[in-house]
Amino acid sequence: MGIKKKTIKDIEVKGKYILVRVDFNVPMEEGRVAEDMRLRAALPTIEYLIDLGAAVILCSHLGRPRGKYVPELSLHPVASHLEGLIGLGVGFAEDCIGPVAEKAAELLEPGRVLLLENTRFHPGEKKNDEEMARQLASLAEIFVNDAFGSAHRAHASTVGVAQHLPAVSGFLLEKEIEYLGRVVTNPEKPFVAILGGAKISDKINVIRNLLSRTDSLLIGGGMANTFLKAQGYSVAESLVEDEVIGTAQELIDEGGRRLSLPVDVVIADRFDAAAQSRVISKGSVPDGWRIMDVGPRTIDEFGKVIETASTVVWNGPMGVFEFAAFAVGTNEIARAVAESGAVSVVGGGDSAAAIKRSGLAEEITHISTGGRASLDMLAGVELPGVAALQDI
Ligand code: ADP
Ligand code: MG
Repeated sequence: MGIKKKTIKDIEVKGKYILVRVDFNVPMEEGRVAEDMRLRAALPTIEYLIDLGAAVILCSHLGRPRGKYVPELSLHPVASHLEGLIGLGVGFAEDCIGPVAEKAAELLEPGRVLLLENTRFHPGEKKNDEEMARQLASLAEIFVNDAFGSAHRAHASTVGVAQHLPAVSGFLLEKEIEYLGRVVTNPEKPFVAILGGAKISDKINVIRNLLSRTDSLLIGGGMANTFLKAQGYSVAESLVEDEVIGTAQELIDEGGRRLSLPVDVVIADRFDAAAQSRVISKGSVPDGWRIMDVGPRTIDEFGKVIETASTVVWNGPMGVFEFAAFAVGTNEIARAVAESGAVSVVGGGDSAAAIKRSGLAEEITHISTGGRASLDMLAGVELPGVAALQDI
């Protein structure tokens, strides 16, 4: 059972005024877009609507302006960058609601695009303020949510506005809920989950939910340290969460043979790209050392499991991939996933970045654009931004 929501293909959009919530929360450097993956991810929806002669009014948040105008968090530079991507002028309104926005929307011609200023410049956005939602809705005839990265939040521009207009999903949101929904609800077996990253505490519900559904759960990254400590090994200076050792123990018991931990690890004498490092078998880490990556035997063992998979879901790097010396585990697991031929879904902000660095992004079936939103999906939690859309 997947999540079935109406999309822009299910309703008449031709020539209509359409408010599209996009996730243009992109990294900025010196007033320019530093990385545009999220802009590119929204193009299929924008281009489809333009082609059908809709008047496309885009809105998004950027950063954390805390309900007031912050010049560095203006979306204005994003409008210029978007122009380059779609090869068409993009209008910009210096407010997302009120007279400025209303005027700009009114003047917008069919087949043209307008970007509204940062929704979080208004305190009503994060409060899901009724009046702000109504004002946003007044700009258009249809609401399209394509902001998967914000779908876990009930804000005025994601949930409130959907109460006032026919609300459907764009292509990005559709693809995200299709792939992430399918892996958790209806995966082709064998289903292998790979979890890593920094902490268990962020992801307990993800581990629990996946543990109940997967054939194998492979655990690496910093998160593995707490499991190793729960098994009685000293992890010395490693990143560890003492407060969830009990939970880790429960998960080990619950998982039984389905849960695999590293059998060897790469340790370093300090947290540094140029640290001294060596490989040790599973066991206690010497005083003063810390675990930075999974070891070669673990890569091998995890690789053998991944090879058999029909579906793979992956969240969390296997090591401190930001340092080349400790990116080997992550890169080799990425290779194993790529070579497995399985339907593969990667979620999580750092995981997506790590896959891109590995050069294997093209080999992955779906790399989610969402951080917390993709983790919530993997935990089986309903996203309010998705729930607010019309059912099929
Ligand atoms: P995601 O954003 O994909 O959900 P996380 O934010 O949970 O992933 O984790 C990513 C971070 O985990 C990276 O910054 C990486 O350096 C860190 N990490 C992975 N393994 C270790 C480790 N052994 N020790 C410390 N940090 C680690
Ligand atoms: Mg992260």
